[in-house]
Amino acid sequence: KARHEVFHQEMYDETKELLELQHDSRQAIIENRFFLEYQPIISLKNEFLYGFEALLRWSHPTKGIIYPNKFLGVAKETGLITEIGRSVLHKACQQMSSWQSKYASAADLKITVNLSSQQIQGANFIDELDEVLMVSNLPGSCLQLEINETMLIDSESKTFDLFQQIESRGDRLNIDNFGTGYLSLQYLKRFPINSLKIDRSFTRGMLSDRENFEIVRMIVNLAKTLKIGIIAEGIENMKQLKVFKKMNCQLGQGYLFAEPLNAESAEIFIDR
Ligand code: C2E
Ligand code: MG
Repeated sequence: KARHEVFHQEMYDETKELLELQHDSRQAIIENRFFLEYQPIISLKNEFLYGFEALLRWSHPTKGIIYPNKFLGVAKETGLITEIGRSVLHKACQQMSSWQSKYASAADLKITVNLSSQQIQGANFIDELDEVLMVSNLPGSCLQLEINETMLIDSESKTFDLFQQIESRGDRLNIDNFGTGYLSLQYLKRFPINSLKIDRSFTRGMLSDRENFEIVRMIVNLAKTLKIGIIAEGIENMKQLKVFKKMNCQLGQGYLFAEPLNAESAEIFIDR
């Protein structure tokens, strides 16, 4: 009465899909439907393989392969991300460890795992880390953990302790999607950070937009000054590669080298 509501079919469809994903994600854990792909990270100096980033996928029985941008939000809301994240860490470390025992050339390769804030805020993340390294028999120096800028700012002092503990195990911390958040530069000095990952939005715009190019150059110079490593993400063509090489950027990742690969194809990549 004297009111109206606007209804869009798309709103209904979106909500319905989210509810379905929420429901299906519990089942997916039970049925072990989450799996990893591995994207090569390349040394730009000599184009040798440096390691892989483990990227999560969901093999859905009716919807096919679902990518993280579609389901991570749901997994965070339901809290399932903690369990999924733990399993990602285990699978990724096991996989790298088994490649290292099979191929001499893999002895020094690194595996990179993305973390979510809920995962590291859990009381026993460090115990989990110790367990995963022990069970997989992977040297701490071969594991790199990726967090984004916001995760550094949330609960600062607790995070600082946590990162110190992570570093003392020899694991390395990378800041993912650098430049897209609001990180105070002070943090870069204070926290034990191994590398900055240049977000692929900067790589994409770098050659057509002067300002974008300057931002990239600034990030690379900043990292050099602070003696932090740098990884360029989203390299898709030779022109971008050339520019990053000229800037002396150490590592790169992107479709130009390889898309995320299943474990068998990643293994072929190691053995080439
Ligand atoms: P990210 O960590 O920034 O990962 C890089 C994303 O860029 C991946 O998307 C990768 O497939 C894509 N990519 C790599 N090279 C190129 C390129 O040259 N061009 C383009 N257009 N894209 C490229 P993906 O696999 O869909 O992952 C999206 C995001 O989901 C990741 O972004 C990461 O934040 C998150 N994610 C993935 N796996 C996990 C996980 O196990 N745990 C958590 N918490 N988050 C994850
Ligand atoms: Mg990442």
